[in-house]
Amino acid sequence: MRLASIAVLGGGPGGLYAARLLKKSHPDAVVTVYEQGVPDQTFGFGVGLASRTQRNLRQADEASLNAIVEQSHPHEMSMKVGDSQVRLAHGELLAIGRATLLSVLQRFAREAGVELRFGERVTVADVDADLIVAADGINSVTRTELADEFGPHIAQGEGLYLWCGTDFALESAVFTPVTTEHGTFVAHAYPYADDRSTFLIETDERTWQRAGFDVSTEATPASESDQVSLDYLQAAFSETLQGHRLIGNRTKWTTFRTIRCDSWHTRNIVLLGDAAHTAHYSIGSGTKLAMEDAIVLDRALLEHDDLESAFDTYEAERRPAVDHLQAIAERSMVWWDNFPERLAMPVEQLMIAYMTRAGKVSLERFAESASGLVTAGLAAYGECGVDDVPASGEVVEWALSRPTAGRSDRLADADLRDADGTALVEIADRPWSAAMRRLIAQPPAASTVWLTGADDRESTLDRLDVGEALRRRTGAVVVVDVPEEFRADAAAGAVSERVDLVSFTS
Ligand SMILES: Cc1cc2nc3c(=O)[nH]c(=O)nc-3n(C[C@H](O)[C@H](O)[C@H](O)COP(=O)(O)OP(=O)(O)OC[C@H]3O[C@@H](n4cnc5c(N)ncnc54)[C@H](O)[C@@H]3O)c2cc1C
Repeated sequence: MRLASIAVLGGGPGGLYAARLLKKSHPDAVVTVYEQGVPDQTFGFGVGLASRTQRNLRQADEASLNAIVEQSHPHEMSMKVGDSQVRLAHGELLAIGRATLLSVLQRFAREAGVELRFGERVTVADVDADLIVAADGINSVTRTELADEFGPHIAQGEGLYLWCGTDFALESAVFTPVTTEHGTFVAHAYPYADDRSTFLIETDERTWQRAGFDVSTEATPASESDQVSLDYLQAAFSETLQGHRLIGNRTKWTTFRTIRCDSWHTRNIVLLGDAAHTAHYSIGSGTKLAMEDAIVLDRALLEHDDLESAFDTYEAERRPAVDHLQAIAERSMVWWDNFPERLAMPVEQLMIAYMTRAGKVSLERFAESASGLVTAGLAAYGECGVDDVPASGEVVEWALSRPTAGRSDRLADADLRDADGTALVEIADRPWSAAMRRLIAQPPAASTVWLTGADDRESTLDRLDVGEALRRRTGAVVVVDVPEEFRADAAAGAVSERVDLVSFTS
């Protein structure tokens, strides 16, 4: 398609990357990025880039990916609860400062011939171009102004988080909780430069209020950081911080919003990145999704002669990948919202629960890649010695065959379903829906809660997630119906204490 002018609203990773790719594909077009901020004054600290992202970016534009990798900081992953710590060797995790990433992408956009206009906050009405790419982020004005055409849906997360940093490089990424007199705070911290680490700290609403952060959040102007919270958290996480300070950058508590839109395009306008969709930060994928959108949009525009067909192809290709990651991200978000409830678990077992939380990594695959850690976690679950834990290929059946409270394995007897004292509950909603939150807040009074529902995988994982919340709150024995083909999910669920017993359905 021949395009004479392209306006990109927003100079975040998605907008800058799209602008470079589009200028290279349409060398005669005038490509302009409008960014409301000024260079080097970005919000945010480091962002993680997973290995698969790197592969996709390498294919699309090797030069910019090489520059990104060069300025990134590799790290391993660990979890620390009290004095217990486990470390996961992981050769492919990279993090980069958001400001550094943007300066690399700005340089490559300029090199391709893109005009970058900083300090200009614009809306679609202000620009005249053949194609308008709205990459204006999670608070997209484009999406809001044209809400009737894009049909946005916004789901608010329950937990609160605060994004800050520190002035030294942690040895590895670490997930670590701290419990104060007010409740539990969890840090997701990782190094992204030789002298910088990101600290992302989460808590629940009650703890936030008890600590007085509702007041400090309210009192913090948009242009400043909530210093009351930063001082408090600096003291709470002093051990992990090793005497260093927490640094804010317009840092304040907020809740995560998952954005979805019925359509990503209208007329000559197309949404890209966070403007179109967001995915909870705990799976570290927002930047990747925005940049991958740019790759597919660029290709679709080359393939087609009209915008409508190109946009349809862009959406058709990107939606399944985005939907998939949003489902994983929402499950991960709920897992982190409930994290403090799992602190009694031995840390190796907790790490298994973490890795298998969203159904993306199976127990078997994790056992293959981290056998020492998983063996220790399985031994804790099975209340046996590490020598009694089998090789990775046998862990699923082994986990299901471990005894528990008066039973010789994890399989429910069929007659328990109809027994007095058993509540049979059909789960037809997502674990994070209002209906499920109500069920969890007011669980059935029963000694056994048996969860049933549809036989697809997502529904099965939903039952396991709801099961975990119910068993922790009620102390009831929780049984989940699991289709035979998802035995591995049942085993991961048992090891992760999401379920007491399973009943296989065919
Ligand atoms: C706490 C937290 C942690 C995260 N961690 C990670 C991580 O580890 N890994 C990861 O991949 N992702 C992470 N993300 C997500 C990531 O930051 C975003 O998904 C990503 O930045 C999206 O890129 P984008 O270009 O779509 O939007 P943005 O990066 O939000 O860029 C939008 C740009 O548009 C500009 N803008 C907005 N409106 C206008 C306007 N009207 N006119 C001109 N300019 C405008 C803004 O100033 C901004 O620069 C995290 C997000 C959060 C909140």
